Amino acid sequence: MNKLNQQGLASSNEIAQIYEILSQTYPTFENTDDPWMTNGLSSTPFKSLVSVCLSTMTITKRVVNACVPLYQRVSNFEELLALDDDELRQIIKPVAHYNRKTVNLKLMARQIIELHNGNIPETREELMKLQGVGRKVTDIMLNFVFSKDTIAVDTHVLRVLNRLKIIATDSAEDAAVKINLITPTFYKKHAHEWLIQHGMKVCTARKPKCSECCVNQFCSQFDS
Ligand code: SF4
Repeated sequence: MNKLNQQGLASSNEIAQIYEILSQTYPTFENTDDPWMTNGLSSTPFKSLVSVCLSTMTITKRVVNACVPLYQRVSNFEELLALDDDELRQIIKPVAHYNRKTVNLKLMARQIIELHNGNIPETREELMKLQGVGRKVTDIMLNFVFSKDTIAVDTHVLRVLNRLKIIATDSAEDAAVKINLITPTFYKKHAHEWLIQHGMKVCTARKPKCSECCVNQFCSQFDS
């Protein structure tokens, strides 16, 4: 079990140790056969942004089922904007909230064309102004497309961070602010990739595999 500080959270030394172990346990995404990578869902900045927007509240298999046919029809924001709304809605039907996402994608495409000459803006402030783009999508774009040292927090990352008492909050937005403040810069670039793999493979929502966990010595939930 980790030694907790006055707020009941892991110390900075322990946080660095946890990242070090995770980095030695999990590959970075480009070295995995994750369907997101093998289906080219982020092979261009356009695909990255659209795929991530479609992925909210949706499992990867359904994102793939929507994105693969979509990218056979469109490859840039002009083509996306020109696509008939009903056709777009039908193509992305596998993902959650496809009606709302259809509207958001069209508005976002128009913003990028009219305000940014068809190029995705590279600053947090401008990304957050795009229709349907929140903190998580922004952090993913900054990290994976624009190579910034930024950690995106999704449901898996949020769960792992709370269980390890690296943070203590139910809010993904709050967690994103905090984890980006306390993570050593050396680990920031790939922290999301290690944490999400740990959350999906070991520290699962139901029945986490604590006895197999590479960082269980730091976790108050592990009863050795
Ligand atoms: S010990 Fe269990 S709860 Fe703690 S991080 Fe590992 S898998 Fe998750």
